[in-house]
Amino acid sequence: MYRLLRPFEYHEPETVTAAVDLLVRYGDAARVVAGGTDLVISMKKRELAPTHLVAIEQLTELDFLERTPAGGLRIGPLVTHAAVAQSPLVQEHYPMLAVASNEVGTPQIRNMGTIGGNVCKSGPSQDTPPVLVALEAELRLQGPSGERVVPMGDFCTGPFCTVLMADEVLTEIHIPPLPPRSAGTYKWCTKVTATDETLAGVAVVVVLAEDGTCADVRIGMGSVAPTATRAPEAEGMLRGAVLDPQLIGLAARMAAGECRPRSRPDYRRRMVRVLTEEAITELWEGLSATTFPAIPGGRDAGSAPGGRSSDDATGGAR
Ligand SMILES: Cc1cc2nc3c(=O)[nH]c(=O)nc-3n(C[C@H](O)[C@H](O)[C@H](O)COP(=O)(O)OP(=O)(O)OC[C@H]3O[C@@H](n4cnc5c(N)ncnc54)[C@H](O)[C@@H]3O)c2cc1C
Repeated sequence: MYRLLRPFEYHEPETVTAAVDLLVRYGDAARVVAGGTDLVISMKKRELAPTHLVAIEQLTELDFLERTPAGGLRIGPLVTHAAVAQSPLVQEHYPMLAVASNEVGTPQIRNMGTIGGNVCKSGPSQDTPPVLVALEAELRLQGPSGERVVPMGDFCTGPFCTVLMADEVLTEIHIPPLPPRSAGTYKWCTKVTATDETLAGVAVVVVLAEDGTCADVRIGMGSVAPTATRAPEAEGMLRGAVLDPQLIGLAARMAAGECRPRSRPDYRRRMVRVLTEEAITELWEGLSATTFPAIPGGRDAGSAPGGRSSDDATGGAR
């Protein structure tokens, strides 16, 4: 049930340091607010009742999206979902993140909601965390005693819980460069309307070795466990192997077994299996075809040691 907001003081610090000072001063009574699409609703529902809101929306130092010298990406927490989805840099180098960002809520939510808010909320069904987990992103946090960097895979500790301290601000999301001959995708089901939660989301990165075997695979899963999570056993089954439909099917089944859904477990597990199988097959076929174009479909790539390789595969491949 929605009610009027309880009274609170609204602070607009001019720097991140000033924001941290306010968080230190007001402790648990304070909350950072970015786009407010999530926090304000929680306040209306009386799930949260902060008496001090520390706004960061005006902090331009947290609003950036740029390539790093090493070829990765730095994203400020204030970048909105719409800006991430429309960024040519994201579309070219990490299209799976553009897809996930474009999947968040409605246009209004995407125009106000930020990637930082999405990550910090840490709801099990958020769309960007499984992608950031698969991309092995790192989060930079600033607190009163300085900065620390936390791998995305360690950031969320449970539903709506993170390692972020009450006096810390997320200041950067860093996505490392993907290796050559890699590609990624995000697949999800099933939103009947744009405001429905994702029931299962699977983010996959596949990296081919020069000989066509699977050098690496990362499977990030959302909405099927208390937090976004990886499927280490399924990944281990594929790493170093020559991929084929049967092996991919087995690994997808294993990934389904690695999730811990809160509700509708059979359906969610089935969807994880289907989405994982689809994602890996699509990426493997696409990469094989662009890396070993002489081999129809690239399917025999693994038996062509020293076959032609290309480091700039297209269609989301790198
Ligand atoms: C109708 C509707 C549909 C939605 N659909 C989706 C969806 O499909 N997929 C999805 O993933 N989400 C969805 N959401 C959830 C939400 O809008 C997103 O999670 C959004 O990205 C939150 O960003 P924000 O900037 O509005 O965060 P805010 O509401 O400002 O903050 C959210 C939380 O993060 C904290 N926070 C924010 N930024 C920082 C920071 N830099 N440092 C420290 N703490 C910070 C806040 O204190 C708060 O606890 C939906 C919400 C609504 C209302």
